[in-house]
Amino acid sequence: MKIYDVIVVGGGFAGLTTACELVKSGKEVKLLEARDRVGGRVYTKQLDEKTYVDLGGQWIGPTQDKIYNLAKELQVDTFTSYNKGIHLLNLNNRLRKYQGLIPKIDIASLLNLDFAIKKLNRLSKNISLETPWKSFNAENLDSQTLATFLDRNIFFENARKILEIGLETVFACGLGEVSLLQALFYIKSGVDLEHLFNMEGGAQQDRFVGGAQLVANRLAEKLSDVVQLSCPVVEIDQVNEIVLVKGENFEYKTKRVVVALPPTLAGRIRYKPLMPRDRDHLTQRFPMGFVVKCYCVYEEPFWRKTNLSGLAISDNSYLQATFDTSPVDGKRGILLGFSLANRARSFMRLSSEKRKDSVLKTFCEWFGQKAANPIYYLDHCWADEEWSRGCYAGIMPPGTWTAYGEALSKPVGKIHWAGTETSTVWNGYIEGAIHSGERVAKEILAVL
Ligand code: FAD
Repeated sequence: MKIYDVIVVGGGFAGLTTACELVKSGKEVKLLEARDRVGGRVYTKQLDEKTYVDLGGQWIGPTQDKIYNLAKELQVDTFTSYNKGIHLLNLNNRLRKYQGLIPKIDIASLLNLDFAIKKLNRLSKNISLETPWKSFNAENLDSQTLATFLDRNIFFENARKILEIGLETVFACGLGEVSLLQALFYIKSGVDLEHLFNMEGGAQQDRFVGGAQLVANRLAEKLSDVVQLSCPVVEIDQVNEIVLVKGENFEYKTKRVVVALPPTLAGRIRYKPLMPRDRDHLTQRFPMGFVVKCYCVYEEPFWRKTNLSGLAISDNSYLQATFDTSPVDGKRGILLGFSLANRARSFMRLSSEKRKDSVLKTFCEWFGQKAANPIYYLDHCWADEEWSRGCYAGIMPPGTWTAYGEALSKPVGKIHWAGTETSTVWNGYIEGAIHSGERVAKEILAVL
């Protein structure tokens, strides 16, 4: 049986980047992907000839240089997200309008918001991106959550509600679910909270013409027969010098393996010998976030005619936030609603008809009666996807970084780890996935 230099498990941006880098260096590589497509958490669904929606990752922004360069190299164009006009804030059962970055709320809440955001940014500057568990005050920060930070630093109800919406939208989890150390690490890895929150100048600034998966598809085309789809890996054996990578109907031999999966899914593969206890306990403590994307597609972006931007945030519907995600030519109008964390869990317990009714009702309240009749409605729950089980990324609960942080990227024998969760830059984002792929390829080239 042929012996590969490297087998890459997972065909998301991390795995594809790893494979490309290794192939460029002349290595014999095979990439095994469980799904019948590449892209992983980036998934563009074509609804008809002129309509596509990004069910997974879709936005990129300043300082995410690798994904911009990759898109350029692969001739995938980007365009600026639509963000003109008046935004909506649905707070305490009142719909308010505002422009720019600052919602119209009482001055005390605004000052409090500014204070808390600045404090989170300031604290994040002290975090070591390479070794967060060795940062100043790490144990203390890792015993708290974002929720306890808000308890101590937010004194006004409106400030709390708005910051909760913003942070839940960034982290895709309840604020009590994520360690404060992890939150600060994540903020610093994406520059600062303004970069994470904002459209213009932030992580939501630009989109891809044709959808984000186009970049992954073109990357896979470059790899041609290296990529093998519909091949879930179930077991990795390092019993002898050569590693065996096994699935239901296949078995490959290789010198090294890269597992480019979210940690919790990496923990579902069977390893022989067993994973060291630190690595296994790490993967036991790395749940995925909870996101449902709800799309309504209309003939045209009718809300723009009344100078609405399509951006709305809300404290009491199933949706924390909505965005205008119409195509660049505006030939369709597409509203995207995000349901996250506990709101998404409740939303998904409704029948599909009730979910649709509730989203349409909300959109009508916010954008007018024209929202009642979309050409398409669809919602997509990533927790139901066998090969993701949640999104946007893995979330570290308290105690994880300080107890097991070192096991996140440290190779185990001939197994190396990639995936956006292992990145020190733009962790949780497409950019982070690419960084992780480049890092692991270097790691392998140094030993092979
Ligand atoms: P994945 O994309 O998860 O790749 C892992 C691959 O491994 C998958 O293809 C999976 O099918 C495969 N796999 C799993 N198990 C096995 C197995 N046993 N054997 C073989 N293959 C396996 N990021 C942004 O930058 N901007 C955004 O706007 C954005 N929004 C998002 C919105 C949503 C709803 C979601 C879901 C994600 C979003 N993200 C966004 C996050 C971004 O998509 C991810 O960070 C990134 O795609 C992760 O890439 P990855 O390669 O690390 O992991």
